Amino acid sequence: MNDAIIVVNTGSTSLKFAAYEMDAAGSLLAHCLGQIDGMQGDPRFVVRNAAGKPWDAHEWGEGHPIDHSAAPRFVVEWLEDNLKGKKLAAAGHRVVLGGERYEAPVRIDGDVLDYLQSLAVMEPSHQLFNVRGARALAEAFPKLPQVACFDSSFHRTMPEAAQNYALPKDVRDAGVRHWGYHGISYDYISRQTPKFAPHARRVIVAHLGGGASMCAMLDGRSVETSMGFAGGSGLPMATRSGDVPPGALFYLLRRKLFDAASLEKMLYERAGLLGLSGLSGDMRILQDSKDPRAAAAIEHFVYAMTKYAGAYAAVLGGLDAFVFTAGIGENSAPVRAALCAKMTWLGVKLDERANACGGPRISSMDSKVSVWVIPTNEELMIAQYTLALVRSRLV
Ligand code: ADP
Repeated sequence: MNDAIIVVNTGSTSLKFAAYEMDAAGSLLAHCLGQIDGMQGDPRFVVRNAAGKPWDAHEWGEGHPIDHSAAPRFVVEWLEDNLKGKKLAAAGHRVVLGGERYEAPVRIDGDVLDYLQSLAVMEPSHQLFNVRGARALAEAFPKLPQVACFDSSFHRTMPEAAQNYALPKDVRDAGVRHWGYHGISYDYISRQTPKFAPHARRVIVAHLGGGASMCAMLDGRSVETSMGFAGGSGLPMATRSGDVPPGALFYLLRRKLFDAASLEKMLYERAGLLGLSGLSGDMRILQDSKDPRAAAAIEHFVYAMTKYAGAYAAVLGGLDAFVFTAGIGENSAPVRAALCAKMTWLGVKLDERANACGGPRISSMDSKVSVWVIPTNEELMIAQYTLALVRSRLV
């Protein structure tokens, strides 16, 4: 009987999942991909098979919310009913922050979950929900091996100078640290990039999705990344502000325009591309809009990336390759072209036709820096981590 692995990403109002089965050679093959949306008000479950074709769906009905215990249990039970001759061997959970304790994926037990839950106070938008989903499955299926995989782990290779803020030791000891996120995606990309650019040692990767960040990698290891202590810093994102000077936040608090909770909500939910444009945080909508505020928001986004690209080329002592990934990075030719134009001084020469076709190589053959579009696959990365821990090897 072949084994299968489920990958779970529990958010505040949605749960995304993927399942993989192992073939006879031990490789992981996609089995299905699905989600439950609208958990708080109008929950809907949809699942697609490996070819992307709709497979099954379920609705609980408006006014019948499901919580962070019921949702993952529903998904695992659905999977067990539909694995057809395969056995669910393990679950891998995405957890954004591993803190000081976890620099690599870890098998879940009660102590691990308690520690991860204690970190939720640092990262308000994902951590608590990630942990709730993992706890629910661990309680409902105590015999199923479960693994927590962290977005912050990949960045623990950053030098101390990059991990520290210039704060007193007691404050740093309280956990205020440049943790870095999107590490599961960056790890996946770091393993893919050598297949395309085998000689590239100094690489910048731009993970541009609803959340967006950039990472400077030397020999496949993170040396700097733009998202810092919590998930709202660095680049502007769909609805998150990115970097804002602390003085501005104190000013808003002093003027009593916000309290701490409403300030955090504004920075995470009303800022970024949405805040700048006043229209939407969705790049597709902004690109299709004729409203000048949409163009100004995109220009700001590219400007912020330009600053980070320059800084990271300096950190790396030069640049061999640049990689675009995630929703915007993989799909927006105009954003890629705009940033590449700003990196001409670094030796980037865009191949416009290749860029319009989505790559994988979008720089011309005589470009000093090669530029790539490489689709990320965080679910597969988590499945591989999980398998490695439960089988003590990577497939
Ligand atoms: P997340 O997983 O963080 O929610 P994704 O990686 O799916 O996000 O990326 C979502 C973003 O990708 C959205 O801003 C969306 O507009 C953008 N996107 C998706 N397809 C396109 C496209 N064809 N052109 C421009 N942007 C796109």
